[in-house]
Amino acid sequence: MTEAMRLDGIRAGRLGADDLARNFSDLHEPFDAHEAMVAADRCYFCHDAPCITACPTDIDIPMFIRQIQTGMPETAAKTIFDQNILGGMCARVCPTETLCEEVCVREVAEGKPVEIGRLQRFATDAMMAAGEHPFTRAPETGKSVAVVGAGPAGLACAHRLALHGHSVTLFDARPKAGGLNEYGIAAYKTPGGYAQAEVDWLLKIGGITVETGRALRDSLALDQLRADHDAVFLGIGLGGVGALGLAGEDLAGTANAVDFIATLRQQDDLTQLPIGRHVVVIGGGMTAVDAAVQSKLLGAETVTIAYRRGRDRMPASRYEQDLAASHGVRLMFGVIPHAIHGDDRLREVELAYVGDDMAPTGETLRLPADQLFRAIGQKLIAVEGLATERGKIAVTGAGRTSLPGVWAGGDCAAGGEDLTVTAVAEGRDAAEDIHAALSA
Ligand SMILES: Cc1cc2nc3c(=O)[nH]c(=O)nc-3n(C[C@H](O)[C@H](O)[C@H](O)COP(=O)(O)OP(=O)(O)OC[C@H]3O[C@@H](n4cnc5c(N)ncnc54)[C@H](O)[C@@H]3O)c2cc1C
Ligand code: SF4
Repeated sequence: MTEAMRLDGIRAGRLGADDLARNFSDLHEPFDAHEAMVAADRCYFCHDAPCITACPTDIDIPMFIRQIQTGMPETAAKTIFDQNILGGMCARVCPTETLCEEVCVREVAEGKPVEIGRLQRFATDAMMAAGEHPFTRAPETGKSVAVVGAGPAGLACAHRLALHGHSVTLFDARPKAGGLNEYGIAAYKTPGGYAQAEVDWLLKIGGITVETGRALRDSLALDQLRADHDAVFLGIGLGGVGALGLAGEDLAGTANAVDFIATLRQQDDLTQLPIGRHVVVIGGGMTAVDAAVQSKLLGAETVTIAYRRGRDRMPASRYEQDLAASHGVRLMFGVIPHAIHGDDRLREVELAYVGDDMAPTGETLRLPADQLFRAIGQKLIAVEGLATERGKIAVTGAGRTSLPGVWAGGDCAAGGEDLTVTAVAEGRDAAEDIHAALSA
C-alpha cells in the first residue's frame, strides 16, 4: 500500500473542543492597564515620528501613546478613531512589523519596537467596552450616497459620510457586513465575534441603512444607483480567485483558500469542521499562511506551503512566515504545482522545482495530500462601464473612477497595498472627496 492509499481523507473532529478553543484563542493577549503603562513608557514621543508616516491612516501615534501614559485611554481611542474608525480591528490585524513598528526608532536602535498595535488595542477596547461612540453626526444635508461593499473600505466611507450629515445606504452581497474582517481574517486574530461588534459600534453614528444580500449586478444596477443617489462608492473587494490551470484541480479535496477560511470563520463549532490529514497550500501571501496555520490548528498532521519564489520574495512578512513555521507548517520555496493526482478524490500534489527565472529544473516531488488550497491571489469581478488598470478599478485622486459620481477604494481599486488599514484610509479619503463634491 502506498502512502497515498493510507490517507484517511478529510474529516471533522481531529481535535477536541478544548484543544480547538485553545488553538483559536487570541494570538496576542491584550495588555492590562499596568502592561499598557510600561509599554507606553518606552515611547520617545519623537518630534518627526516615523511611525505616523508609516501608518496608512496617519494616526498620531505619539499623541495617543502619551494619552495612555497619562491615564486617558478613552481620549487615546478618540485620537485613533479620528483617523481610523476601524482602529480596533487594525490594532489586531495590521502587519505592524512592516508598518509603524518596523520604523519605530526603538526597533531601529534596539531591535524592539514600542508595541504600537497592542497599545492601540488597549485604547480602542477601553472605549468600545464602555459602549461609547465618540462622534456626533452633522445635521442632515439632504444628500444620499450608495456605498456598495461593507468591508473596511465601505464601512470607513459610510461612517465618514454619515458623520458629515449625508444619508448612506450600505449594500453588501453577503448575509453579514464586515467584508474580510468577518469572512477572511484569521480566526485567532479576531476572536469573540469582534468583527460584528465593531460593525454595530460603528453604525451608532446613525444615518446608515445596511442592506445585506444585495449584490451589484444581481439586484443592483450601477446606472440605477447613480440615478437614485447623489454619489456612489464601490468597495467591493476582490471576489474572483485565480486557478492553477492544471487538470484535476476540481477534484474533491481541492478548494480556494478564501472559501475554506470563510467557512471556518462562520463555523460556530469547530469540532464539526472537516480538515485533511495532509494539506498542501499553494501561494505565498497572508491568505496562504492563514489557510496553512488554521489547517494545523484544526489538527491536520502535515501542512505544506508551496511558494514559487524564494523566501525573500514571499508576500507574507517574515513575521507571518515564522508564525507558520512555529505552528509546524513546512514552507517550501522555489516550487510550482506541476500535477494533481487522484481518482475519486485528491491523493497527491506533484510540485516542480524552478529556478529564479521560473524555469523548471527538471526535478519534481510528490506530496501526499487529501486537501489542496489555492491561495494564488484574488481578482476583481469587473463592473461594466468602469475603466480598469492592471486588473483593478482605475482611480485618480481620492478614488475617482472613470464614471462621474462614482468613487472606488480598498482592494478593488488600483494602487495601495491590499491591507485592512489601506482600505480604511481609501474609504475615508473618498468620503471626504465625495463630501467636498456634494458641498460645492
Ligand atoms: C484570508 C485573508 C487574510 C487577510 N489577513 C489580513 C490581515 O491579517 N491584515 C491585513 O491588514 N489584511 C489582511 N487581509 C487583506 C484585507 O482583508 C483586505 O485588504 C481588506 O479586507 C480589503 O477591504 P475592502 O473593503 O476593500 O474589501 P473586502 O474586505 O473584501 O470587502 C468587500 C465587500 O464587498 C462585498 N461585495 C463584493 N462584491 C459585491 C457586489 N457585487 N455587490 C455587493 N457587495 C459586494 C463583499 O461581500 C465584501 O463584504 C487578508 C485578506 C485575506 C483574503
Ligand atoms: S517611532 Fe517609536 S518611539 Fe518614536 S514616537 Fe513612534 S512609537 Fe514612539
